[in-house]
Amino acid sequence: MDIELDFLSPIHQIKNKIFDEAEINVFVKRDDLIHPLISGNKWRKLKYILKKAVAENKTHLVTFGGAYSNHLLATSAAAAQFGLKSTGIVRGEMVNNDILFLCKLHGMELQFVDRASYQDKPALFNKYFLNDPDAFFINEGGASAEGAKGCSEIIGELPQIYDHVFCASGTGTTVAGIINGINELNLKTQINSVPILKNGSFLENEIELLLNKKHPFTLHTDYHFGGYAKTTPELISFIKQFIADTGMLIDPVNTGKLFYAIFDLATKKYFKPGSNVLAIHTGGLWGILGMQEKF
Ligand SMILES: *Cc1c(COP(=O)(O)O)cnc(C)c1O
Repeated sequence: MDIELDFLSPIHQIKNKIFDEAEINVFVKRDDLIHPLISGNKWRKLKYILKKAVAENKTHLVTFGGAYSNHLLATSAAAAQFGLKSTGIVRGEMVNNDILFLCKLHGMELQFVDRASYQDKPALFNKYFLNDPDAFFINEGGASAEGAKGCSEIIGELPQIYDHVFCASGTGTTVAGIINGINELNLKTQINSVPILKNGSFLENEIELLLNKKHPFTLHTDYHFGGYAKTTPELISFIKQFIADTGMLIDPVNTGKLFYAIFDLATKKYFKPGSNVLAIHTGGLWGILGMQEKF
C-alpha cells in the first residue's frame, strides 16, 4: 500500500487592488487540489496516521466529527482508497446531508451519539470497539503528533522563502506542523494562524503541545465571525466576491475566514511593503453545499 502524497500542490498568486496598495504579494498553496474529497490538510494529517494504523495491522479506522466534518469525509475516502473499513461517530441526532451521504458512499458506517457522550471520545471508542482488535482510534479532526508531522511537509515543498505564512486553525494541528517545518529548515518566516472558533486563544496551548521546539507564532483571534460554522452577511459577501474574482473556491467555515483576515490585515497595513505572503488553502470545500441558504 502506497500512502505517499504523490501530488505536489501548486502555488498560485492572487492579484488585486488591495494587495497592490499594500505593496504585498499574496500566494496560495493549493492543498485544496490534492484530492477532491481527502482534501488539503486532512490528507496531510491522515498520511502518518494511516501509516501507523497499517504498521499496527489495523484494518478499521474509527473517528469522530460533526455532521459536516471534512475530516469524516476525508477518512471515509482514504479508508476506501486503501482498502480499510471505517466508522464515523457523529455528534448529535441522526441526520443526513451531502457530507454524510458521501461518507456512506465510501462505505463508512455512521454511529450518531448525543452531544454529552460525544465529549469523551476514548470512552466511546471503548464502548463500541473495545473487543475489536482491528479497530484504530483517530482523534477528531486528525489532531495528533502524526497529523502535525504530515502538515510539516508543506514547508519542504515551498520554492521560495516567504515573509509570512497563514492558515486557518480548528484544532491547531496544521499550524503546529507548519511551525515544526519552519523550525526544521531554520526559516525566518512569520507564522500566522486564523482560529475559526470563538475565543481562539485557547489554541496557544494546543499548538505548543505539538511543537518539537518552542517558536513564536501569531493567533489572529478576531476573525471567527461568531464561532465555528457561524457567518455574517459581510463574510458571505466577501466570499462571493473572492470566488468570482479568483476562480478559487473557499468556504464560510475555514478558508473564507482565513482570506478575509489576510485582506483585512492588508487594508490595515499589517504587512511591510514588499512582503511575500503565503496562504495555505487547506481545502474542505464540500460543506459549502450545506450552507446555500446563507448565500
Ligand atoms: C480541518 C480544517 C482546518 C483546521 O485544521 P486544524 O489542523 O484542525 O487546525 C482548516 N481548514 C480546513 C479546510 C479544514 O478542513
